[in-house]
Amino acid sequence: MDVRPRPNVCNLDVYVPGKPIEEVQQELGLTRVIKLASNENPWGPSPKALEAGRLALDKIFLYPDANAFNLKKALSERVQVKPSQIAIGNGSDEIVQLIANVFVDPGDEVVMATPSFPRYKTVTELMGGIPKEVVLKDYRHDLTAMAAAVTEKTKLVFICNPNNPSGTIVSERELDEFMELIPPRVMVVFDEAYTEYVNAPEFASGFKYLQQGREVLVLRTFSKAYGLAGLRIGYAIGSPEMIDLLNRVRGPFNGNQVAQQAAGAALADQDYLEQVVANNYQGLNQLSEGLSKLGCSPVPSQTNFILVEVGRPSEELFVGLMRKGIIVRPGHLLGHPEALRVSVGTGEENEQFLLALADILNA
Ligand code: PMP
Repeated sequence: MDVRPRPNVCNLDVYVPGKPIEEVQQELGLTRVIKLASNENPWGPSPKALEAGRLALDKIFLYPDANAFNLKKALSERVQVKPSQIAIGNGSDEIVQLIANVFVDPGDEVVMATPSFPRYKTVTELMGGIPKEVVLKDYRHDLTAMAAAVTEKTKLVFICNPNNPSGTIVSERELDEFMELIPPRVMVVFDEAYTEYVNAPEFASGFKYLQQGREVLVLRTFSKAYGLAGLRIGYAIGSPEMIDLLNRVRGPFNGNQVAQQAAGAALADQDYLEQVVANNYQGLNQLSEGLSKLGCSPVPSQTNFILVEVGRPSEELFVGLMRKGIIVRPGHLLGHPEALRVSVGTGEENEQFLLALADILNA
């Protein structure tokens, strides 16, 4: 190439998404493919959200509301903050990038756990920053080591709570101790994409520190428990000053109108959300019991997926399952070479997965 793209861009790791259903169907000539690879909600969104989204289609010749007035109002009532404390993103994924845009200059350091959500590292490198990856301890964030990794150059710390891909949380007490050690000049970002699924009493949202006057950001999404992954909408909660900075770097129309309307209706239907969360817990139990019976070691999960140590190379297991029409996430891509990450499916999908894995392990 004669043109000169930024070396930071050329050297970035490429995000590997879960394999799409249609691709696997065509490649392997399968009629049915079950995807348990991207932590999607197998029950889909509330019917009210679908209806609101359909109605919004009639207006797609208009630009979306750049300020997402109605959605922010609904969110502000639910989480008890001012609308000026909420930023909307094209998925919370986009907000992760906006945060790096706001904070990271070349040479700045960003502390994160590994294995964790890979975008923290990518957006840091994109900005010329230096990711400081701190290895999980017993599948959980090692907050002591993360606090120790903070230096004069640290601008950001990402805490993925619950963590993807391990499904684990850090407790309120651990976070309190951690926050005591972090200087106020460091922005702590709590990525809480799976928060709706959590039922452990020791969990606390990072929101608590915002209420205490700390400058933190809390990220949430409509992609998981609310079932709107395909519409791409998430949000950040922070101080009005921080939200103002995020708004300066985002594209003006980054939250599309169909997503805004559907998200508002999904948020209003908390009964449906509760049902999804209850279904998910049944699925988690079904998977962890079934996996234990097969001699595997599932990591106890507070999310809609399970990381399971199978004791065999994950690539081999991934290919074997795919041939049987089941897509999971192979652990070697996530830093766990003998594990799989399996999203909770419907009861029947989970059963099919367990049968297919049993076949492979017993062959
Ligand atoms: N954070 C975490 C921890 C995730 O697992 C994901 C999705 N895989 C995201 C953020 C991004 O979600 P979305 O962009 O769909 O809101």
